[in-house]
Amino acid sequence: MDLFYMTAHELHAKLAAGEISARELCRAFLDRIVSVEDRLKAFITVTEEMALKQADEVDKRIAAGEELPPLAGIPIALKDNMCVEGIRTTCASKILFNFVPPYSATVVEKIKSAGMVIIGKTNMDEFAMGSSTENSGFQPTSNPWDTERVPGGSSGGSAVSVAAGETVLALGSDTGGSIRQPASLCGVVGMKPTYGAVSRYGLVAFASSLDQIGPFARDVDDCAQLLNIITGHDPLDSTSAPGEKTDYTAFLNSDIKGLKVGVPREYMGEGIDPGVRAVIEKALQVLSSLGADIEEATLPHSRYAIPVYYLIATAEASSNLARYDGVKYGLRDEEAQDIVDMYMKSRSRGFGTEVKRRIMLGTYALSAGYYDAYYLKALKARTLIKQDFDRAFDRFDVLVCPTSPGTAFRKGEKTDDPLQMYLSDITTISVNLAGIPGISVPAGFSGGLPVGMQIMGRPFAEGNLIRVAHAFEGSAGHRGKFPSLI
Ligand code: GLN
Repeated sequence: MDLFYMTAHELHAKLAAGEISARELCRAFLDRIVSVEDRLKAFITVTEEMALKQADEVDKRIAAGEELPPLAGIPIALKDNMCVEGIRTTCASKILFNFVPPYSATVVEKIKSAGMVIIGKTNMDEFAMGSSTENSGFQPTSNPWDTERVPGGSSGGSAVSVAAGETVLALGSDTGGSIRQPASLCGVVGMKPTYGAVSRYGLVAFASSLDQIGPFARDVDDCAQLLNIITGHDPLDSTSAPGEKTDYTAFLNSDIKGLKVGVPREYMGEGIDPGVRAVIEKALQVLSSLGADIEEATLPHSRYAIPVYYLIATAEASSNLARYDGVKYGLRDEEAQDIVDMYMKSRSRGFGTEVKRRIMLGTYALSAGYYDAYYLKALKARTLIKQDFDRAFDRFDVLVCPTSPGTAFRKGEKTDDPLQMYLSDITTISVNLAGIPGISVPAGFSGGLPVGMQIMGRPFAEGNLIRVAHAFEGSAGHRGKFPSLI
């Protein structure tokens, strides 16, 4: 099999046995990027020099006889909203086209100390606002299964880089579905951990009460390994959860007999593509054949999730994005006459249409006279959504549904209709509003395009998600298919 489609645990065995050096591995992926990038455009920056240096360090450790940590020498790509000291970090926005952070995000420090090799920064919807990666201020990314189609978003570049064998692992961020939805559309594993499980320090903020960093991987085993590295308390993030670290690999290879699986009826009916529904129904049969107990569940306030999210997320974004004013960093309009003119011109030129739409929506929702009617009401409805999940988890261990209502759509299909685009996250957004973990695992194909199954769990029950996803992956029988990039 091609090196590019191997998992981290397979490559680890090769590195540890001396069959390949970390430098050779890194070089092979850098060459792969060169050969497919003109068709995919998954990367904004390829960090060749840094990657080779990190690979050489791993080779030195191997030569010194050190035991190799599980992900040492394994290439990883990072969504371009995570700060890496000395490397341009743009959020795919013209307003940050020249921003080079003076520090690294906590997750970056963690993956570096694990010996991982950072191969580049990936494309995304500008400031993570979107579901197709078409809102990038620089370039749209293509889906490797059909390059006429979108990869999903906003972490589209990270999903594609893993799906197309340009890297082994990647990190994305998920505010309303931005890891799980592109993972589903590209046929890879993607997880949004519990809010607070992974430090957000050094992640450029979009909506601070919803944002969470998480892994993209080729399989559930790799996802568990990467989760082990990135989770844990961080004093630099005041919302980071305290507590002992968990070893998520301990949940691999365990059975799911007697596990109570709820299927929210709101996520299997209207609006779900019949081909997608059929794949998920088959997946539920697999879970049932493994001994899980499947029953219908209900999340009655789901219909409020999209409006609630688009009030809360835009309100938080309008405040977070106020810092891009052309003064301290990023794009500055040099022709402005005075400071107010400079703010206006820098922001008008630097932000794209969707970002401007969100800033206006959020500013409106927070303004005096509307705050109670919109923002406060949205916060109350958020509590009702959270309580739906609490009640469901009294009865069920996990909830299962399609990750996205459809498969990858054609480029341009939804760009003129923001509401249609917003609906692509109908099954993922509530998970962020409730702060719980969710994983998307490849479940099969519809019309030749990948379909993901979402598994949701109680707060900090990532282990349970790994357990179900791994059991399913081992029995689903659709693995071993890769996009043909000819
Ligand atoms: N698609 C959603 C949005 O546009 C979610 C994005 C995300 O999770 N970052 O806001």
